[in-house]
Amino acid sequence: MIKNCNLLLMEIYSTLLHYFGPRDWWPADSRLEIIVGAILTQAVSWKNVEKAIANLKGAEVLDIELLHRIDENELAELIKPALYHRQKAKKVKAMIDFIYREYQADLDSMKSDDLQTLRLKLLSVWGVGPETADSILLYACEKKIFVVDAYTSRIFSRIGLLDGKSGYDEVQSFMQTYLPPQLDIYNEYHALIVALGAGYCRKTNPLCKKCPIMSYCKYSLNWQDN
Ligand code: SF4
Repeated sequence: MIKNCNLLLMEIYSTLLHYFGPRDWWPADSRLEIIVGAILTQAVSWKNVEKAIANLKGAEVLDIELLHRIDENELAELIKPALYHRQKAKKVKAMIDFIYREYQADLDSMKSDDLQTLRLKLLSVWGVGPETADSILLYACEKKIFVVDAYTSRIFSRIGLLDGKSGYDEVQSFMQTYLPPQLDIYNEYHALIVALGAGYCRKTNPLCKKCPIMSYCKYSLNWQDN
């Protein structure tokens, strides 16, 4: 079983990488931009986030000190395209306050904290759940932790490797058990899953006939005219 899962996960990875090419994820110019993006992307598509980030850059406030000083309402207006903007402005401010309080606004110091300690601290910040925390850990802090999202659960349940009821921790543990513990693979695999989930393995009417990993997928055996 272990060997099969190892092989299968890596075959799927290679197939997706060959099909989509390297995703260069996370698309950001700085660690701070990744951290802010990880909050803004909650419950919305990346296109919304891009517009909000562009607004922050246009207003020249994508800087830790400026985000600390900016009025919350002003921040909310700038990130409006990311939706739920008032709540997200609060979350961004809470995260920036946390970085000031715990690391004296030094992202290098934050990055040097050990994985489990930093994860617990991030999860204690208001508005930060496991997916946001792990996105920050993996992409902004280069920690070896697999980021799980709704696409991960859906795709690997449909393939037949998960039962569809597994929670975040179970899915993460499954991926980390069977994948080589390599930062580059964790980084790329999550991005490839996002590409597959957004473009093919949709919640309803998945495009199985065009899917690059159809041959690995149990669900595709049942497709009709999708
Ligand atoms: S074959 Fe269909 S259900 Fe399976 S991963 Fe691809 S799109 Fe999703």
